Amino acid sequence: MVIDAIKNGIVIDHIAAGKAMELYQTLGLGRLDCTVAILKNVPSQKLGRKDIIKIDRDLNLDWDVIGYVDPNITVNIIRDGERVEKRLLKLPDTITNVIRCRNPRCITSVEQELPQVFKLTDRAARVYRCLYCETQAGK
Ligand code: ZN
Repeated sequence: MVIDAIKNGIVIDHIAAGKAMELYQTLGLGRLDCTVAILKNVPSQKLGRKDIIKIDRDLNLDWDVIGYVDPNITVNIIRDGERVEKRLLKLPDTITNVIRCRNPRCITSVEQELPQVFKLTDRAARVYRCLYCETQAGK
């Protein structure tokens, strides 16, 4: 993979093919004023096909959100053209304000100012449930 195009920034690698746009939107990368490159369907030995996002700037990303979208993603931090850090992600135990509860009778549907908190209840099956009403999150 070619990373020398980036001098200082972040390469989000091993995104499941077709998931790059979801991650782009979830992380709000469209709000950045730097170069963001999305590579889709890149051949990968590990995954067959994968997506990659390159961000031409160092910034703090929400690791939990990335891990929620796809825990198999790896994040490479690039400084002065060299990879200085490789982060392996995992499913977060809780996620806040990433997804909304589907239950119309949930307290978060009534009390709009409440944070949308979901807890991981089954790591193997990647099941998250609403903290308030235990409705399962739909993906
Ligand atoms: Zn709920």
